Amino acid sequence: VIRCRAAVAWAAGKPLSIEEVEVAPPKAGEVRIKIVATGICRTDEHLLQGCFPNAEFPVIPGHEGAGIVESVGEGVSSLKPGDKVIPLCLPQCGECSFCLNPESNFCQKSHISEAQNLLPDKTSRFTCKGKQIHHFLWVSTFAEYTVIPEYAVAKIDAAAPLDKVCLFGCGFSTGYGAAINTAKVKPGSTCAIFGLGGVGLSVVMGCKAAGASRIIAVDINKDKFAKAKELGATDCINPRDFQKPIQEVLTEMTGQGVDYSFEVIGHADTMIAALASCNMNTGICVMVGELDSGSEISIDPMLLLTGRTWKGTVLGGWKMRDAIPKLVSSYLDKKFNSDLLITHTLPFAKVNEGFELLRAGK
Ligand code: NAD
Ligand code: ZN
Repeated sequence: VIRCRAAVAWAAGKPLSIEEVEVAPPKAGEVRIKIVATGICRTDEHLLQGCFPNAEFPVIPGHEGAGIVESVGEGVSSLKPGDKVIPLCLPQCGECSFCLNPESNFCQKSHISEAQNLLPDKTSRFTCKGKQIHHFLWVSTFAEYTVIPEYAVAKIDAAAPLDKVCLFGCGFSTGYGAAINTAKVKPGSTCAIFGLGGVGLSVVMGCKAAGASRIIAVDINKDKFAKAKELGATDCINPRDFQKPIQEVLTEMTGQGVDYSFEVIGHADTMIAALASCNMNTGICVMVGELDSGSEISIDPMLLLTGRTWKGTVLGGWKMRDAIPKLVSSYLDKKFNSDLLITHTLPFAKVNEGFELLRAGK
């Protein structure tokens, strides 16, 4: 058993508390990882606010980390102590019908298929003050050590800087892949991205990499525009600067609406606005933002009847175990610069300050 620090969410709506926790050794098919760096994603905030589906407290959040394998359980063959890795909040067992389908990136052996906040054998490796602590998405990266199933871990290049590539565990991969894999943005096309957080800015990067000729970035926080431009946005607009609905503004700007729109906020009204912003016949709208659990959306069916496509994405459509090591290699080859997404670097004990920065739009 390892004793180390972790940020524990004891109840919804409360700040995280840094605690000493016990991390049990990995069981068969599991690995114990020393987490070196972790990002903060809006999804962690959904969890802290009690809006994440089926969440159970107390829990150790965090799902955008990178680390080094400390030890492996019985039967683990693809990883060994010392390997640099990225924990995957969407695993890839490699055997289920989704994993075998080249078009799918969902794994039936994931915690999403059978919602649960413990490891696959229905037990936890974390205890604190005599209490069992839940895992989050099987990765719980807000802990100095965490235990994860082997098939939810990607081994990456030993040269990768862990404090930079941790973003590949969620935000960067999700946004970049939403453009490249889910929307399949074509060269010369027009795109609109609603929401310029870490994920939305990664969509901008993906649209640019795919060769889009016009990339319109939409946010109510104009402080996000400089970075969006740096990453490839050609236009930046604030819905609050217009009297008319933003979908009308975008349709006027582009003639018939954009070819691809992306909602990367997580609100019902912006989901509908993004859908209405794309071309009525051939437009593709990708839902990336997560609505609070239990939310519903109602739309005018004519929006779809005229031919639009509305689709969602989980982790940008990547088959994570295969794709993450390749994305890391592309990063090391300087094919894109995801470092530009990093705004602040804080010591672990200041994790609550990190959430304050997220809430403040910084
Ligand atoms: P973030 O909070 O950093 O960014 C959200 C941005 O939206 C902010 O810049 C904010 O100013 C902007 N915004 C808020 N209301 C707006 C409005 N009405 N109009 C225009 N802009 C508005 O969040 P993030 O970490 O980038 O995550 C974005 C969303 O993606 C979240 O809902 C998150 O849960 C979700 N997400 C989904 C997946 C997936 O696999 N589908 C993965 C990661 C994150
Ligand atoms: Zn995330």
